[in-house]
Order: sequence, then structure tokens, then C-alpha cells
Amino acid sequence: MRNPEEYFLEKYSRQIIMEQVGVEGQKKINNSSICIIGCGGLGTSAAQYLSMSGIGKLIFIDHDSIVLSNLNRQTLFTEKDIGKSKCEVLTKKIKNINKSITVNYYQKKINENNIDQYIENCSIVLDCTDNFESRLLINKFCHNKKKILVSAALQNFDIQAFIFSSWSNNKNPCYKCIFPDLTTTENQSCDEMGIIASVAGLGGIIQANLALNYILKLHNNFKELILLDSVRLDIKKIKIEKNKNCKVCC
Ligand SMILES: [Zn+2]
Repeated sequence: MRNPEEYFLEKYSRQIIMEQVGVEGQKKINNSSICIIGCGGLGTSAAQYLSMSGIGKLIFIDHDSIVLSNLNRQTLFTEKDIGKSKCEVLTKKIKNINKSITVNYYQKKINENNIDQYIENCSIVLDCTDNFESRLLINKFCHNKKKILVSAALQNFDIQAFIFSSWSNNKNPCYKCIFPDLTTTENQSCDEMGIIASVAGLGGIIQANLALNYILKLHNNFKELILLDSVRLDIKKIKIEKNKNCKVCC
């Protein structure tokens, strides 16, 4: 029978063995809390890898229930789960993956009045939603509440990702700096555009990876839009400056 320290060292040994992680880095992972807004293709994939890495606390927010057409890309959901709450089912599955972590969930649609209470106890927010209205709202609150925001979007075979820290200096952009003209009425979601299973999974893994890089103080560039073409496996990075006229972060 292993004692708790032996269990920790063995369970995360393949991470701890790396110089860039070590026991200290693994403890940072275990002491981190991350809020995942949207438990669809991006959210389920990110949640899976973050829980396996040992993130101490995960918070899931999603008001939707599981439908048959989700199952091509929303990992961990099965036909038996159809009709059930996404965040409730995800919580159960994640606890099966890693019983050591704390998971809270809220079966709610985020809005101006409730988002504060969901994100206040985490340092990192993963925007895994599929519409501009939610993305603009999450961006505004993460800037105002000084949260690291890891955003991703999927479009057919393409993935866009970004880690934001717009509040930490006067150079880092926010989501609105990149898309200043975006309004909440432009709402075509990935459901309407189509998405292939592996691309959704990859998008969530990129978000989990950006969050872990931040926790471990490895490389993070807060001014870089990452564009991945999953057909050619080309990655482009576009440097983005803060928009001095941004209504959110300036
Ligand atoms: Zn901005």
C-alpha cells in the first residue's frame, strides 16, 4: 500500500521526471484551478487532459444536454448519456479518470450577472464555447477580473487558439483587440459549419497545453494568434498588438 506521497510521485512520475516539471512543477499543477466554459468538443477534450495532468480543481459550466450529433467529437460522452446534462456527465467521467481532483459544475448559461461567481475561484479560464456572444462576455470578465484566458475556435479543418493576459501590461491584446468589429449577433457556431472529430479534440488539447505551459512557466506568448491547418498540419503564428482603441482593455 502506497502512502499519499508515494502515490503522488508514482502517478505523475512521467511528468515529474522532466527537468522542466519536477516535484515543484507538479505541485503547481496540483494547486491550480481552471474553469472550463462550454463542455462540447473543445471542453471535453481539454478537461480530459487537464484532469490526467493532475490539475487540482476543475469547474465546468454548460447549460446544454447531450444529443446524438454531439457524439462524433465530444469525447467521453456515449449514447447512454443522450438527454443528460453535459457538465454533470463530464464531471462523473472526469472523476473516474482522476479521483484526486475536485470538480464542480454549473448547469447554467453564462450571462453578465452570473459569470463572476463561476470564475472567481480560478486563475485560468478556458473559453470552449462556440459563439461570439459568449466569447465577448468571457473576454470582458477575464480582463476585468485579471484571469488568464485560453481561447480556441474551430472552423471545419482549422483551429485558432490564443492565450490572453490583457490585464498584465499595456501591450498584451485581448480577444476584442483581434476582432474589434465583432458583435454578439454574428453567431454562426461550429455546429452549423461542420467539424471533424479529431480537429475538435486537437483544439481542446492545444488549450490544455497552453494552460499547462502557463502554470509551469514554460513558453507563453500573449501576443500570438495560433492558426493550425489540420489538413496540411501547418501552424502559423500571427503577432497581434493591443488595439489602442479597444473598448475592453484600453
Ligand atoms: Zn482589447
